[in-house]
Amino acid sequence: MTAHALVVGAGPAGTAAAIRLSASCDVVTMVEARPRDGLKRTGEHLPPAAVTEFAKLGFPDLLAEECHEPSPGVRSLWGSGFAVDKEYFLTLPSSGLNLRRQQFDEALARRAERAGVGVQFGTRLTHLQRDWEGYVATLLGPDGERTIHADLVVDASGRRAVASRHLGATRSRYDQLVGITGRIDRLQPDAEIGRVHVESVEQGWWYGVQFSDGVLLATFMTDVASVQQHAARASGLWFDQVRASRLLAPLARGGHWSGRVDVFDASAQVLEHDAPRGFLAVGDAAAAYDPLSSWGIAKGLRDGTAGAEALIREREGDANAVARHRNAQQRDFETHRARQSDFYRAETRWPTSPFWRSRQGVWQQRSA
Ligand SMILES: Cc1cc2nc3c(=O)[nH]c(=O)nc-3n(C[C@H](O)[C@H](O)[C@H](O)COP(=O)(O)OP(=O)(O)OC[C@H]3O[C@@H](n4cnc5c(N)ncnc54)[C@H](O)[C@@H]3O)c2cc1C
Repeated sequence: MTAHALVVGAGPAGTAAAIRLSASCDVVTMVEARPRDGLKRTGEHLPPAAVTEFAKLGFPDLLAEECHEPSPGVRSLWGSGFAVDKEYFLTLPSSGLNLRRQQFDEALARRAERAGVGVQFGTRLTHLQRDWEGYVATLLGPDGERTIHADLVVDASGRRAVASRHLGATRSRYDQLVGITGRIDRLQPDAEIGRVHVESVEQGWWYGVQFSDGVLLATFMTDVASVQQHAARASGLWFDQVRASRLLAPLARGGHWSGRVDVFDASAQVLEHDAPRGFLAVGDAAAAYDPLSSWGIAKGLRDGTAGAEALIREREGDANAVARHRNAQQRDFETHRARQSDFYRAETRWPTSPFWRSRQGVWQQRSA
């Protein structure tokens, strides 16, 4: 197919889309704002079903790096004062995986390059508009600003949905969730290595994993308002909460914390957009799920692949292919929201907490 495709964002969704497009388009360019080895990201968890999804989609090699660590299961303290263990050995595959996201992102980039995709790191989309023949994108990279023309554009820029918003799309947000991640190191590895710890508390919930090198990554999920109300903001809130956590305080004991945390937007959101011809948002740019699901990465790979196929079919004459894909994204998001609501409703110990109250009634939607 004689076409130039531009993919914005080199996360799982963008990479999967670029690889699929490279099988059908002359030229595929994928631009990524961060430098190749830049940006620390939180370590992420893949439950066994997500590991299976990688294999089904043809990406098992992306998990081959030895740095990723097997996870035996999840210990959760949610809805009652008792900790419950869910063991993965009863499932197939018999373990999950805790990703080192930086190495995972590098594996994505190498896989895309092998498929013939031109991957440009440190290059940011700063403007996008339609013209008679397709799209004109302005890119700011290490050598300054330049303009390129593309027939097909995939927005895989994550929750910010940058490309879509240049074309007038808005985001409907369902909450103000943020993840505050801190790293405690120099711990003595113990028997709980790799086990995911999930704990609900009055202002939100915890997610923590200890790796074999003695590092505990602990993310506190809470609303923006809780951060704003704490005198010492995100780092103070994180520290106070980790000390009070029943599951994580014992794991963190004796370790060293640098005093810094990273804060990530983790809101559930969906894009409101009638995709113009030749354009589609995929992954978190189209619909971002609550991290409680541990499904964002596998969903990104699946949506990127299926979204690229829809764009190709549309270009080959199936005028409704992209609209059908958009409908499927919307349906999946609604299913996800219903499931998340059930989880949040199971926690009834803090009826006056704004965090839990806002998740136990009808979800309020806001546009941004
Ligand atoms: C705190 C937290 C914990 C999570 N835990 C898990 C978990 O345990 N398991 C799981 O499966 N998922 C988890 N997720 C979700 C998961 O991280 C995302 O769903 C997944 O990364 C989405 O993939 P994506 O490719 O759509 O977007 P991303 O991975 O966000 O990639 C988007 C890329 O676009 C780039 N970009 C942005 N703007 C521009 C621009 N203007 N020009 C060029 N590039 C741009 C960004 O730099 C980024 O690399 C978590 C998320 C959060 C916030």
